[in-house]
Amino acid sequence: MRVLALVTHPDDAEFLCAGTMSLLGKAGWKLYMSTMTAGDCGSKELGPQEISAIRRQEAANAAALIDADYHCLEFKDIFINYDQPSILRVVAHIRKVQPDLVITMSPDCYMIDHEITSKLVRTGCFTAGMTNIITPGQEPFNKVPHLYYMDPIEGKDKLGQVIEPSTVVNISSEIELKTEMLACHVSQREWLRKHHGMDEYLIAMKRQSEHTGQKIGVPFAEGYRQHLGHAYPQDNLLAETLSEFAVLR
Ligand SMILES: [Zn+2]
Repeated sequence: MRVLALVTHPDDAEFLCAGTMSLLGKAGWKLYMSTMTAGDCGSKELGPQEISAIRRQEAANAAALIDADYHCLEFKDIFINYDQPSILRVVAHIRKVQPDLVITMSPDCYMIDHEITSKLVRTGCFTAGMTNIITPGQEPFNKVPHLYYMDPIEGKDKLGQVIEPSTVVNISSEIELKTEMLACHVSQREWLRKHHGMDEYLIAMKRQSEHTGQKIGVPFAEGYRQHLGHAYPQDNLLAETLSEFAVLR
């Protein structure tokens, strides 16, 4: 079985789903971590090419800790559009990976790049099997993968409304590894450390994991909502696979 975490920026997966990815790896799944952008706007000192090169490597280092394959789809920060070329790029990637399960950004989040990513991945999963959608070099993928949305950053949408997850995964056993993965993003961690005068990067991740854990009475957890619209698989493959760790709400 294969899981593809297709998120917007290097570090989004490390914040929101790395514990779950690690558990799926331990269950024998092949892991793919992909980002839409290389995080080219993630620096005040370095130009877009310099910081992108650094952040691609940081993301690859983090993915390597759980033996995941890392790939960047080379979109640009702030300029992710819902249009034909973007949809085709996402469809081609899904066809290449052939995932059984896809994890992506919340459709409701503080940042439009996150929300557009969510829409592109939703359409990509639905469309990857359509023979009349042509992606050179890639054959149509003959199923709609199970699709899950991670919790938004800080668990709230852009209006401050709390987004309640319906599947919560206990990642307490993975929190140290998840922290190590996030710490691979040295460029972002250092920037926040200077800015806040403390290790806000790692603290913020742990704070959210802890807050989600409280929802099911465990130290640390990650929350998801499953896409259950027409034509998508209706069984909860994530919860069934991680039955020892997952709680439905
Ligand atoms: Zn992000």
